[in-house]
Amino acid sequence: MHGLMMDMPLAISELIRHADRHHGDTEIVSRRVEGDGLHRYDYRAAHRRARRLAKALARLGLAMHDRVGTLAWNGYRHFELYYAVAGSGAVIHTINPRLFEDQIVYIANHAEDRILCFDLTFLPLVEKLASRLETVKRFVLMTDRAHMPAKTSIPGLLCYEELVEAEDDRFEWPQFDERTAACLCYTSGTTGNPKGVLYSHRSTILHAYGAALPDVLNLSARDVVLPVVPMFHVNAWGLPYSAAACGTKLVFPGQHLDGRSLYELFEAERVTMSAGVPTVWLGLLQFMDANRLKFSTLKRVVIGGSACPPAMMRKFADEYGVEVLHAWGMTEMSPLGCVNTLKGKHLALDRESQFAIRIKQGRPPFGVDWRIVDEEGRELPADGRTFGHLQVRGPWVMRGYFKGEGGDPLRDGWFPTGDVGTLDGDGYLQITDRSKDVIKSGGEWISSIDLENIAIAHPAIAEAAVIGVRHPKWDERPIVVAVKKPGAEVTREELLAFYQGKVAKWWVPDDVVFVEELPHTATGKLSKLTLRQRFSDYRLPGT
Ligand code: ADP
Repeated sequence: MHGLMMDMPLAISELIRHADRHHGDTEIVSRRVEGDGLHRYDYRAAHRRARRLAKALARLGLAMHDRVGTLAWNGYRHFELYYAVAGSGAVIHTINPRLFEDQIVYIANHAEDRILCFDLTFLPLVEKLASRLETVKRFVLMTDRAHMPAKTSIPGLLCYEELVEAEDDRFEWPQFDERTAACLCYTSGTTGNPKGVLYSHRSTILHAYGAALPDVLNLSARDVVLPVVPMFHVNAWGLPYSAAACGTKLVFPGQHLDGRSLYELFEAERVTMSAGVPTVWLGLLQFMDANRLKFSTLKRVVIGGSACPPAMMRKFADEYGVEVLHAWGMTEMSPLGCVNTLKGKHLALDRESQFAIRIKQGRPPFGVDWRIVDEEGRELPADGRTFGHLQVRGPWVMRGYFKGEGGDPLRDGWFPTGDVGTLDGDGYLQITDRSKDVIKSGGEWISSIDLENIAIAHPAIAEAAVIGVRHPKWDERPIVVAVKKPGAEVTREELLAFYQGKVAKWWVPDDVVFVEELPHTATGKLSKLTLRQRFSDYRLPGT
């Protein structure tokens, strides 16, 4: 016997319709890509323009399931595309502009993008690549008439504002199966070609609900959210959807993510919550330190994408009164896997004991199920000590890559994350490493993340990466590659001494190399792969 409840498909268009009807005057503020200040409107106006845009895209020939590529920053036009494209039953394919040109071409061709919409910043890039984009029929520059180039090599370049202005908003969102594809994101693919993860309306809506929960992002109609995490990287962690569901004010930072630009926007728009990878907060905190600034409204910051250094979490809390929520996830998980918040029974603990829990990656919201397994796929105990390969499942976890790339990734119905970690009896996950980053020394594992966190806690260190280098006896040994803070001094010996007493003796790195800068991936993470290549011939002292 079936229940007797309405069978309304979960649809992304319903999110913006809801925000329009019940939070119509809640603002969406964007730093203009054109460079002249802020653009400001509200959910009602955004919905109106998304409908006009949907009509314009249909007039350009966009059909159900067609892909629309975007090369764009976090901004209101990108937001409109999110809703207009998916709401029409087509697929929004957000491309990471920081990828290598060949990868961008590969991705756009692999996705078979029909239309490509891009910000003014990327005009030179698209001019260069257009002839290699085999399936793109229409190129749309996301700007107004006044900023259109007088001359361009892009055939039939269209102007976004002209397309929107040519339509009215008499438009009803079509209805279709909730399992219909809605958005496509490629993983940055540290090895081999990037692979596409194809989200559905259903998975996106369930993720939007899950992400908004109190022990996850805790979003509300009283919050002002500034997503630093790009809309081209796993849908800005789903914030453009969850915010619409909750009626949260959105502030889009455009292309300037330096400390000053972010700080000014945080203050001017009274931002209460933000989210991004650790690297971006380094810049902001350095700027705040140097200028002795404080936040007046910011309450919490979600940090994930790579491990949040405990030193960063302390600094936010102790010096700025901002709560850091550590989060873990991946493109294949839409991306939220877990966020770290305490439980009631932890509230009576002293601050240090609470901190020891909060630096873990977190516990899963309802909707994410996980386990750790050994090499043979046997489940390991969740005792907070045993580490194993982390596997996940749930309605917003991927079951296969776009076009079947890489074959069937599932193992007994579970998705292997490629991460190694421990689980404890309270449900908290601690990531030891990516399985390919873990350092194997004398048959035992050393966590590069733990060693990096110690280096970063040293007052003279700005950023650090720990990698394994070949060792004749131990197979691999850790070395620290570190960047000093401007004007700060520390020697190799001092940094190595800093490890004493903090980890087992055999975990202490064998060497330190100071560099001016560390390599980062297109998603702003330390590129260990590049570092390992750079240090492939490295000889440890005394070997
Ligand atoms: P990619 O960078 O490969 O495109 P994602 O952005 O999906 O992929 O990154 C997912 C990976 O990032 C995870 O599998 C994990 O290794 C790492 N990661 C994400 N958040 C954290 C975190 N809080 N701590 C440690 N590692 C993390």
